Amino acid sequence: MRDELSHIRNREDEERKIILAEHQKYMDNLFARQPKLKQNFDQAEEVRKQIISATLGKLRGQPLDEEITGLETRLADLLRKRSALLDQYGINPASLEPKWNCRRCQDTGMVYTADGRYLVCACAQAKRSRLFRQRAGLPARICQATFDGTDFAIFQTAHRSQVKKVYAYSQKFCDELRLNSDSSQGLFIHGPTGSGKSYLLGCIANYLVEHMSVRYMVYADFLDSLRATFNSRDSEQSEQQLVDEVKNVDLLLLDDMGIEKPTEFSLKNLAQIIDYRYRSLKPVVVTSNFTLEELIRRTQTDLYGERIVWRLGEICSNILELKGNLRMIL
Ligand SMILES: [Zn+2]
Repeated sequence: MRDELSHIRNREDEERKIILAEHQKYMDNLFARQPKLKQNFDQAEEVRKQIISATLGKLRGQPLDEEITGLETRLADLLRKRSALLDQYGINPASLEPKWNCRRCQDTGMVYTADGRYLVCACAQAKRSRLFRQRAGLPARICQATFDGTDFAIFQTAHRSQVKKVYAYSQKFCDELRLNSDSSQGLFIHGPTGSGKSYLLGCIANYLVEHMSVRYMVYADFLDSLRATFNSRDSEQSEQQLVDEVKNVDLLLLDDMGIEKPTEFSLKNLAQIIDYRYRSLKPVVVTSNFTLEELIRRTQTDLYGERIVWRLGEICSNILELKGNLRMIL
Protein backbone atom coordinates (compact mmCIF):
# COMPACT_ATOMS: atom_id res chain seq x y z
CA MET A 1 0.00 0.00 0.00
CA ARG A 2 2.82 2.38 0.90
CA ASP A 3 4.52 1.63 -2.44
CA GLU A 4 1.30 2.29 -4.29
CA LEU A 5 0.79 5.59 -2.51
CA SER A 6 4.29 6.77 -3.34
CA HIS A 7 3.70 5.69 -6.93
CA ILE A 8 0.54 7.82 -7.05
CA ARG A 9 2.32 10.76 -5.43
CA ASN A 10 5.13 10.56 -7.98
CA ARG A 11 2.56 10.61 -10.75
CA GLU A 12 0.84 13.63 -9.18
CA ASP A 13 4.20 15.40 -8.95
CA GLU A 14 4.88 14.65 -12.61
CA GLU A 15 1.45 15.98 -13.66
CA ARG A 16 2.02 19.10 -11.59
CA LYS A 17 5.41 19.71 -13.24
CA ILE A 18 3.79 19.42 -16.68
CA ILE A 19 1.10 21.99 -15.78
CA LEU A 20 3.75 24.36 -14.38
CA ALA A 21 5.95 23.97 -17.49
CA GLU A 22 2.97 24.69 -19.76
CA HIS A 23 2.13 27.73 -17.68
CA GLN A 24 5.71 29.00 -17.87
CA LYS A 25 5.60 28.65 -21.66
CA TYR A 26 2.35 30.60 -21.78
CA MET A 27 3.79 33.37 -19.57
CA ASP A 28 7.03 33.59 -21.61
CA ASN A 29 4.98 34.06 -24.79
CA LEU A 30 2.81 36.64 -23.12
CA PHE A 31 5.79 38.60 -21.78
CA ALA A 32 7.47 38.52 -25.21
CA ARG A 33 4.34 40.15 -26.66
CA GLN A 34 3.76 42.58 -23.77
CA PRO A 35 7.08 43.82 -22.28
CA LYS A 36 5.28 46.30 -19.99
CA LEU A 37 3.54 43.39 -18.29
CA LYS A 38 6.86 41.59 -17.87
CA GLN A 39 8.34 44.72 -16.30
CA ASN A 40 5.37 44.92 -13.91
CA PHE A 41 5.80 41.29 -12.85
CA ASP A 42 9.55 41.72 -12.29
CA GLN A 43 9.02 44.84 -10.19
CA ALA A 44 6.28 43.23 -8.10
CA GLU A 45 8.52 40.20 -7.54
CA GLU A 46 11.34 42.46 -6.38
CA VAL A 47 9.04 44.32 -3.94
CA ARG A 48 7.72 41.01 -2.57
CA LYS A 49 11.29 39.89 -1.84
CA GLN A 50 11.97 43.18 -0.06
CA ILE A 51 8.80 42.74 2.04
CA ILE A 52 9.93 39.25 3.08
CA SER A 53 13.39 40.42 4.00
CA ALA A 54 11.99 43.43 5.92
CA THR A 55 9.54 41.14 7.76
CA LEU A 56 12.40 38.83 8.75
CA GLY A 57 14.36 41.88 9.88
CA LYS A 58 11.41 42.91 12.01
CA LEU A 59 11.36 39.43 13.60
CA ARG A 60 15.00 39.99 14.49
CA GLY A 61 13.92 43.13 16.33
CA GLN A 62 14.69 45.82 13.78
CA PRO A 63 12.12 48.64 13.76
CA LEU A 64 11.06 48.42 10.09
CA ASP A 65 7.32 49.07 10.30
CA GLU A 66 7.46 52.19 8.14
CA GLU A 67 9.57 50.49 5.51
CA ILE A 68 7.14 47.53 5.32
CA THR A 69 4.12 49.84 4.98
CA GLY A 70 5.89 51.73 2.18
CA LEU A 71 6.68 48.49 0.33
CA GLU A 72 3.11 47.23 0.72
CA THR A 73 1.77 50.47 -0.75
CA ARG A 74 4.18 50.14 -3.64
CA LEU A 75 3.08 46.53 -4.25
CA ALA A 76 -0.61 47.50 -4.20
CA ASP A 77 0.18 50.23 -6.70
CA LEU A 78 1.96 47.76 -9.01
CA LEU A 79 -0.96 45.34 -8.82
CA ARG A 80 -3.39 48.13 -9.73
CA LYS A 81 -1.24 49.00 -12.72
CA ARG A 82 -1.14 45.35 -13.71
CA SER A 83 -4.89 45.15 -13.59
CA ALA A 84 -5.15 48.20 -15.87
CA LEU A 85 -2.62 46.68 -18.31
CA LEU A 86 -4.57 43.41 -18.44
CA ASP A 87 -7.73 45.37 -19.15
CA GLN A 88 -6.00 47.30 -21.88
CA TYR A 89 -4.62 44.13 -23.55
CA GLY A 90 -7.90 42.22 -23.10
CA ILE A 91 -6.26 39.46 -21.00
CA ASN A 92 -8.30 37.45 -18.51
CA PRO A 93 -6.50 37.66 -15.10
CA ALA A 94 -7.38 33.99 -14.43
CA SER A 95 -5.09 32.99 -17.34
CA LEU A 96 -2.09 34.23 -15.31
CA GLU A 97 -2.54 31.29 -12.95
CA PRO A 98 -1.44 27.75 -13.88
CA LYS A 99 -4.35 25.62 -15.09
CA TRP A 100 -4.66 23.41 -12.04
CA ASN A 101 -7.18 20.62 -12.13
CA CYS A 102 -8.04 21.58 -8.55
CA ARG A 103 -7.66 25.22 -7.57
CA ARG A 104 -8.18 24.41 -3.92
CA CYS A 105 -4.94 22.48 -3.52
CA GLN A 106 -3.19 23.56 -6.75
CA ASP A 107 -2.88 19.84 -7.51
CA THR A 108 -0.59 19.22 -4.56
CA GLY A 109 -3.26 16.94 -3.09
CA MET A 110 -2.91 18.69 0.28
CA VAL A 111 -4.69 21.69 1.76
CA TYR A 112 -3.56 23.85 4.63
CA THR A 113 -6.44 24.58 6.99
CA ALA A 114 -7.06 27.79 8.92
CA ASP A 115 -6.14 26.03 12.17
CA GLY A 116 -2.73 25.08 10.80
CA ARG A 117 -3.25 21.46 9.79
CA TYR A 118 -2.43 19.74 6.50
CA LEU A 119 -5.28 17.64 5.12
CA VAL A 120 -5.65 15.44 2.06
CA CYS A 121 -7.69 17.40 -0.47
CA ALA A 122 -11.01 15.89 -1.61
CA CYS A 123 -9.71 15.74 -5.20
CA ALA A 124 -6.72 13.59 -4.14
CA GLN A 125 -8.93 11.35 -2.04
CA ALA A 126 -11.24 10.74 -5.00
CA LYS A 127 -8.34 10.17 -7.38
CA ARG A 128 -6.64 7.71 -5.05
CA SER A 129 -9.84 5.86 -4.47
CA ARG A 130 -10.38 5.56 -8.25
CA LEU A 131 -6.84 4.27 -8.77
CA PHE A 132 -7.11 1.71 -5.98
CA ARG A 133 -10.35 0.46 -7.49
CA GLN A 134 -8.78 0.21 -10.94
CA ARG A 135 -5.89 -1.75 -9.53
CA ALA A 136 -8.19 -4.15 -7.74
CA GLY A 137 -9.21 -5.33 -11.23
CA LEU A 138 -12.88 -5.99 -10.46
CA PRO A 139 -14.95 -6.87 -13.53
CA ALA A 140 -17.77 -4.43 -14.37
CA ARG A 141 -20.54 -6.72 -13.12
CA ILE A 142 -19.26 -6.65 -9.54
CA CYS A 143 -17.38 -3.34 -9.34
CA GLN A 144 -20.29 -1.64 -7.55
CA ALA A 145 -20.87 -4.48 -5.07
CA THR A 146 -20.97 -3.42 -1.42
CA PHE A 147 -22.00 -5.06 1.85
CA ASP A 148 -24.32 -2.15 2.61
CA GLY A 149 -25.90 -2.24 -0.83
CA THR A 150 -26.54 -5.99 -0.93
CA ASP A 151 -30.22 -6.78 -1.41
CA PHE A 152 -30.76 -10.16 0.22
CA ALA A 153 -34.27 -10.34 -1.26
CA ILE A 154 -32.67 -11.53 -4.51
CA PHE A 155 -31.44 -14.70 -2.83
CA GLN A 156 -33.73 -17.71 -2.74
CA THR A 157 -35.84 -17.75 0.42
CA ALA A 158 -34.65 -21.18 1.48
CA HIS A 159 -31.01 -20.05 1.53
CA ARG A 160 -31.39 -16.40 2.54
CA SER A 161 -30.47 -16.74 6.20
CA GLN A 162 -27.40 -18.85 5.34
CA VAL A 163 -26.32 -16.24 2.75
CA LYS A 164 -26.75 -13.45 5.31
CA LYS A 165 -24.55 -15.34 7.76
CA VAL A 166 -21.83 -15.81 5.14
CA TYR A 167 -21.92 -12.12 4.21
CA ALA A 168 -21.86 -11.03 7.87
CA TYR A 169 -18.95 -13.37 8.58
CA SER A 170 -17.07 -12.06 5.56
CA GLN A 171 -17.58 -8.46 6.67
CA LYS A 172 -16.27 -9.34 10.12
CA PHE A 173 -13.25 -10.94 8.45
CA CYS A 174 -12.70 -7.65 6.58
CA ASP A 175 -12.99 -5.61 9.79
CA GLU A 176 -10.26 -7.76 11.34
CA LEU A 177 -8.07 -7.31 8.26
CA ARG A 178 -8.49 -3.56 8.48
CA LEU A 179 -7.00 -3.74 11.94
CA ASN A 180 -4.24 -6.13 10.96
CA SER A 181 -3.51 -6.80 7.30
CA ASP A 182 -0.61 -9.15 8.16
CA SER A 183 -2.81 -12.12 8.72
CA SER A 184 -2.28 -15.55 7.30
CA GLN A 185 -5.96 -16.18 7.78
CA GLY A 186 -8.10 -16.41 4.69
CA LEU A 187 -11.54 -17.48 3.55
CA PHE A 188 -12.57 -20.35 1.34
CA ILE A 189 -16.05 -19.84 -0.07
CA HIS A 190 -17.65 -22.62 -2.06
CA GLY A 191 -21.03 -22.95 -3.69
CA PRO A 192 -22.62 -23.61 -7.05
CA THR A 193 -22.37 -21.30 -10.05
CA GLY A 194 -24.71 -18.35 -9.60
CA SER A 195 -24.80 -18.46 -5.81
CA GLY A 196 -23.23 -14.98 -5.53
CA LYS A 197 -19.60 -15.88 -4.79
CA SER A 198 -18.09 -13.32 -7.17
CA TYR A 199 -20.47 -10.65 -5.91
CA LEU A 200 -19.28 -11.34 -2.37
CA LEU A 201 -15.67 -10.89 -3.52
CA GLY A 202 -16.74 -7.53 -4.99
CA CYS A 203 -18.16 -6.51 -1.59
CA ILE A 204 -14.92 -7.55 0.14
CA ALA A 205 -12.76 -5.69 -2.39
CA ASN A 206 -14.76 -2.47 -2.19
CA TYR A 207 -14.85 -2.61 1.61
CA LEU A 208 -11.06 -2.86 1.85
CA VAL A 209 -9.70 -1.22 -1.24
CA GLU A 210 -8.97 2.10 0.45
CA HIS A 211 -7.25 0.47 3.40
CA MET A 212 -4.94 -1.96 1.61
CA SER A 213 -3.99 -3.10 -1.87
CA VAL A 214 -6.48 -5.64 -3.18
CA ARG A 215 -6.30 -7.74 -6.32
CA TYR A 216 -9.19 -9.72 -7.77
CA MET A 217 -8.53 -12.40 -10.32
CA VAL A 218 -9.98 -15.46 -11.94
CA TYR A 219 -7.00 -17.77 -11.98
CA ALA A 220 -7.77 -19.03 -15.49
CA ASP A 221 -7.62 -15.40 -16.78
CA PHE A 222 -4.39 -14.80 -14.90
CA LEU A 223 -2.86 -17.80 -16.66
CA ASP A 224 -3.92 -16.30 -20.00
CA SER A 225 -2.12 -13.06 -19.09
CA LEU A 226 0.97 -15.04 -18.15
CA ARG A 227 0.94 -16.90 -21.45
CA ALA A 228 0.52 -13.59 -23.28
CA THR A 229 3.82 -12.38 -21.82
CA PHE A 230 5.59 -15.32 -23.54
CA ASN A 231 4.16 -14.40 -26.92
CA SER A 232 4.99 -10.73 -26.81
CA ARG A 233 8.48 -9.44 -26.20
CA ASP A 234 7.28 -5.87 -25.81
CA SER A 235 4.67 -6.88 -23.33
CA GLU A 236 4.30 -4.17 -20.68
CA GLN A 237 4.82 -6.59 -17.83
CA SER A 238 7.05 -9.60 -17.66
CA GLU A 239 5.85 -12.94 -16.36
CA GLN A 240 7.78 -12.41 -13.14
CA GLN A 241 6.31 -8.94 -12.62
CA LEU A 242 2.80 -10.34 -12.95
CA VAL A 243 3.51 -13.14 -10.51
CA ASP A 244 5.24 -10.76 -8.07
CA GLU A 245 2.29 -8.39 -8.08
CA VAL A 246 -0.09 -11.18 -7.17
CA LYS A 247 2.32 -12.57 -4.57
CA ASN A 248 2.74 -9.24 -2.81
CA VAL A 249 -0.66 -7.59 -2.91
CA ASP A 250 -2.09 -7.14 0.62
CA LEU A 251 -5.20 -9.19 -0.13
CA LEU A 252 -5.61 -11.63 -3.01
CA LEU A 253 -9.12 -12.57 -4.14
CA LEU A 254 -9.03 -15.73 -6.21
CA ASP A 255 -12.35 -16.31 -7.94
CA ASP A 256 -13.59 -19.57 -9.41
CA MET A 257 -10.66 -21.77 -8.48
CA GLY A 258 -10.70 -25.15 -10.17
CA ILE A 259 -12.10 -24.09 -13.55
CA GLU A 260 -8.58 -23.80 -14.99
CA LYS A 261 -7.01 -26.85 -16.57
CA PRO A 262 -4.70 -28.40 -13.97
CA THR A 263 -1.60 -28.36 -16.19
CA GLU A 264 1.89 -28.42 -14.70
CA PHE A 265 2.35 -24.79 -15.75
CA SER A 266 -0.82 -23.58 -14.05
CA LEU A 267 -0.29 -25.55 -10.86
CA LYS A 268 3.40 -24.68 -10.53
CA ASN A 269 2.64 -20.95 -10.71
CA LEU A 270 -0.27 -21.17 -8.34
CA ALA A 271 1.78 -23.23 -5.87
CA GLN A 272 4.50 -20.57 -5.98
CA ILE A 273 1.97 -17.81 -5.26
CA ILE A 274 0.07 -19.60 -2.51
CA ASP A 275 3.26 -20.84 -0.82
CA TYR A 276 4.79 -17.39 -0.81
CA ARG A 277 1.66 -15.78 0.58
CA TYR A 278 1.37 -18.41 3.26
CA ARG A 279 4.96 -17.84 4.38
CA SER A 280 4.62 -14.04 4.27
CA LEU A 281 1.38 -14.03 6.27
CA LYS A 282 -0.65 -12.57 3.40
CA PRO A 283 -4.31 -13.50 3.28
CA VAL A 284 -6.18 -15.03 0.35
CA VAL A 285 -9.91 -15.31 -0.22
CA VAL A 286 -10.74 -18.14 -2.59
CA THR A 287 -14.05 -19.08 -4.16
CA SER A 288 -14.74 -22.30 -5.97
CA ASN A 289 -17.55 -24.44 -7.27
CA PHE A 290 -15.75 -27.28 -5.55
CA THR A 291 -15.29 -28.00 -1.86
CA LEU A 292 -11.72 -28.32 -0.59
CA GLU A 293 -12.18 -32.11 -0.44
CA GLU A 294 -13.29 -32.16 -4.08
CA LEU A 295 -10.30 -30.05 -5.06
CA ILE A 296 -8.00 -32.48 -3.22
CA ARG A 297 -9.54 -35.38 -5.14
CA ARG A 298 -9.12 -33.52 -8.44
CA THR A 299 -5.44 -32.86 -7.83
CA GLN A 300 -4.52 -36.11 -6.10
CA THR A 301 -2.26 -37.30 -8.87
CA ASP A 302 -0.39 -34.05 -9.05
CA LEU A 303 2.33 -32.98 -6.66
CA TYR A 304 1.83 -29.22 -7.08
CA GLY A 305 -1.95 -29.43 -7.04
CA GLU A 306 -2.00 -31.35 -3.82
CA ARG A 307 0.40 -28.91 -2.21
CA ILE A 308 -1.80 -25.97 -3.21
CA VAL A 309 -4.95 -27.45 -1.76
CA TRP A 310 -3.27 -28.45 1.49
CA ARG A 311 -1.81 -24.97 1.83
CA LEU A 312 -5.21 -23.44 1.15
CA GLY A 313 -6.62 -25.69 3.83
CA GLU A 314 -4.12 -24.19 6.27
CA ILE A 315 -4.59 -20.58 5.16
CA CYS A 316 -8.35 -20.68 4.83
CA SER A 317 -9.29 -21.88 8.25
CA ASN A 318 -12.69 -20.30 7.66
CA ILE A 319 -14.74 -22.27 5.18
CA LEU A 320 -18.05 -20.78 4.10
CA GLU A 321 -20.73 -22.22 1.90
CA LEU A 322 -23.09 -20.26 -0.32
CA LYS A 323 -26.17 -22.07 -1.48
CA GLY A 324 -28.80 -21.54 -4.13
CA ASN A 325 -28.75 -19.94 -7.53
CA LEU A 326 -29.39 -16.23 -7.97
CA ARG A 327 -30.04 -16.65 -11.66
CA MET A 328 -33.04 -18.85 -10.96
CA ILE A 329 -35.02 -15.99 -9.51
CA LEU A 330 -33.52 -13.05 -11.36
ZN1 LIG B 1 -7.40 19.35 -4.65
